[in-house]
Amino acid sequence: TPGEQVLLEVKDLHKHFGGVKAVNGVSFTVRKGDVAVLIGPNGSGKTTVLNVLSGIYEPTAGEVWFDGRNISGLKPHVINRLGIARTFQNIRLFPELTALENVIVGYYPKGTVGLAGTLLSTPRGYLEERIARERAEETLRLLGFTRIHEKAKNLPYGQQRIVEIARAMVCEPQLLLLDEPAAGMNTEETKELSHLVYRLHELGFTILLIEHDMSFVSQVATQAYVMDFGSKIAEGSVDEVLRNPAVIKAYLGD
Ligand code: ADP
Repeated sequence: TPGEQVLLEVKDLHKHFGGVKAVNGVSFTVRKGDVAVLIGPNGSGKTTVLNVLSGIYEPTAGEVWFDGRNISGLKPHVINRLGIARTFQNIRLFPELTALENVIVGYYPKGTVGLAGTLLSTPRGYLEERIARERAEETLRLLGFTRIHEKAKNLPYGQQRIVEIARAMVCEPQLLLLDEPAAGMNTEETKELSHLVYRLHELGFTILLIEHDMSFVSQVATQAYVMDFGSKIAEGSVDEVLRNPAVIKAYLGD
């Protein structure tokens, strides 16, 4: 049953930058099928947690376990290959490539070949190219995205975000990390995104996200973890944590 098997376990995680304890002893779990959310005031350490999980930073101390394996300190492309994919706060698409091409780029493992080079010039087998294309089309279809031949730069912001999510999902990751997916979206786009995330949840995907938009969060999250000054100060359902006095105090102090 979804929601029972632990997929990700973060154990007493620390990440210090010189004297700055960006993450200072954080533990939490994400079970298969969860849509977990990390919330907290600016500077509380959320992005740093995501950066450690995806291998951009090595933890100062503590461990990250994923699917029964200690992945602490592994390189980003290795972690990606093991089944964790992410999007970033700022859109990182190739503006001159189409939506479909951007997703195809995501199909090829990073760290082996240059990104754009992969798509445009490497002599890969015809069959592999066809598989990549089919997978990319399937993923975009799953997300309800139709303007697949439009250049990324000509798509509205909300649609670009969906393409990024598709690019992260094209390799069928077991865990999807989304860094502020609703940032910069208008109300309509945010509503569509929350429907999309909800549908992914229904399909059984496991997602961990950072998000500031509380109406979005309360619509999609099955589990919330609240950070303040590098530590976890609350956990539970979104409604529970938003009623928690320590959480209210942390936000008012921001
Ligand atoms: P959040 O995502 O919750 O806004 P961050 O994880 O971005 O918080 O930042 C937490 C703290 O760590 C902040 O004080 C930030 O300035 C610091 N920090 C983050 N990344 C670095 C870095 N690469 N070097 C130094 N300090 C950093």
